[in-house]
Amino acid sequence: MIVQPRIRGFVCITAHPVGCEAKVRQEIEVAKAAKQDGGPKKVLVIGASTGYGLSTRIAAAFGHDAATLGVFFERPSQKGKPASAGWYNSVAFEKAAHEAGLYAKSINGDAFSHEIKARAIEMIKEDLGQVDLVVYSLASPRRTDPDTGETYKSCLKPIGQTFTNRTLDTDKGEVSEVSIEPADEEEITQTVKVMGGEDWELWMKALSDAGVLAPGVKSVAYSYIGPELTWPVYTNGTIGGAKKDVERAAAAISEAYGCEAYVSVNKAVVTQASSAIPVVPLYISILFKVMKEKGNHEGCIEQMVRLLNDRLYGGDLQLDEAKRIRVDDWEMEPDIQAAVAKVWPEITSENLNALSDFSGYQQDFLELFGFGLPGVDYEADVEVDLPLPSGG
Ligand code: NAD
Repeated sequence: MIVQPRIRGFVCITAHPVGCEAKVRQEIEVAKAAKQDGGPKKVLVIGASTGYGLSTRIAAAFGHDAATLGVFFERPSQKGKPASAGWYNSVAFEKAAHEAGLYAKSINGDAFSHEIKARAIEMIKEDLGQVDLVVYSLASPRRTDPDTGETYKSCLKPIGQTFTNRTLDTDKGEVSEVSIEPADEEEITQTVKVMGGEDWELWMKALSDAGVLAPGVKSVAYSYIGPELTWPVYTNGTIGGAKKDVERAAAAISEAYGCEAYVSVNKAVVTQASSAIPVVPLYISILFKVMKEKGNHEGCIEQMVRLLNDRLYGGDLQLDEAKRIRVDDWEMEPDIQAAVAKVWPEITSENLNALSDFSGYQQDFLELFGFGLPGVDYEADVEVDLPLPSGG
């Protein structure tokens, strides 16, 4: 079929298989160009199909020749309709990894469940023996507790007071004001249940109990801090509370399993998760212009190459006062933040393209779903029903 983008608000409900493959191959080239010895060899990536998790998988496989097992929750093609982007990304990743002689298998299912943890452990035992790096990169709006069966929902809300600021309708290119009411106690607790560190701890406990963690294993989960203007709705809001819990979990995991568990604070990039956060797409559009002008702009893959090569395996962790890895360091440079803050109050729908890199934002957004990539014939009839090469 001919697959066209069908954008609904901050999601695109279609994905292009050939475009997703082109994007994955672009990232693979970046990882290969930074190839380095001494990195991870057997890697489990939880949340491996899009965004930071996918890029970590690519950086480990193609930058360090690592065997990778990826866990994700994606939609295969059904009734002739295109699969989700993460499905096509994983098909493309496995295909390229197998071509390169690398082990790559995947599990599609709910990472929060006992069943998927057990399947991952079984596969590690059978194929890899043990893993030496566990990457936790889930972003999910809900989680069902595997013991109680209760389902929790996460929300993006301020705590204590209403937050009003500028936001961007990325579909229409319109800047407007948004007001978000504060979360109640229940919403705060539920967001920690979904996006906090509990499930990361459950994974590490299950892996440790099964004896599949290699001596000296490392683990990393991702976080974000960002500019002060988003703190009320992010860092000091419900999601920030969950991220503090991920920091608590990092310390608990390090102590319980004798491993090095870290939180890595990453840069703001366009992903399916970040495009859903109010205010953030406008900030990202301005940030990209400022960082591109300074020449230190990065996407997911450049960030993850730097995380593995320089920080986790380069002997230079550069931990901050809260013992976090900071690959958001260039984003947070004072001159970058000052330049964004200067533009922020001036931006309107009319000057959006002049004062920000909204076109770069839109390009990245389309690419998430395999659209707008050079060399791809979007008028061609393509096969949408693609199986995972490993069988999934
Ligand atoms: P994303 O939406 O691109 O990826 C989420 C991944 O989680 C996908 O692989 C998806 O399949 C998987 N997933 C979701 N629910 C699942 C489930 N129940 N079972 C199995 N897999 C499931 O998100 P992202 O932006 O790459 O976010 C990953 C992490 O990086 C998050 O912790 C996020 O807070 C953090 N982070 C993101 C940014 C940013 O700007 N996007 C910045 C810093 C940190």
